Amino acid sequence: MVSKIDHIGIAVNNLDEAIKLYKDVLGLELHGVEVVEEQKVKVAFLSIGDTEIELLESTSPEGPIAKFIETKGQGIQHIAFKVGDVEAALAEMKEKGMRLIDEKPRYGAGGARIAFLHPKSTDGVLIELCERK
Ligand code: ZN
Repeated sequence: MVSKIDHIGIAVNNLDEAIKLYKDVLGLELHGVEVVEEQKVKVAFLSIGDTEIELLESTSPEGPIAKFIETKGQGIQHIAFKVGDVEAALAEMKEKGMRLIDEKPRYGAGGARIAFLHPKSTDGVLIELCERK
């Protein structure tokens, strides 16, 4: 049901500094920076093969990325799996006994429709289901 790793989400303190690392040092192609108000994040996407690195900087001390960094420090925050239909994927996950953070899809950067599974039912990994047109 999941077809590939769509992207890996990395929580950073400073987006510009992080972009320097991934773009200038590692040579990935930056193809978009976007603020997602609803999630209080500024996001940068960089391509690597047919997947992406998603860098996330909090726009508010109250945001989920700020809280993540506060407790765990900077680093990998979530792994996003590509799905064809996020509603169908959520229904299937629920039926299989997964705990969901999102009962309904929400808007993600780049026009994606996304939903998160709860790390308590995925061995501590925050898994995002991601549908893109
Ligand atoms: Zn993501």
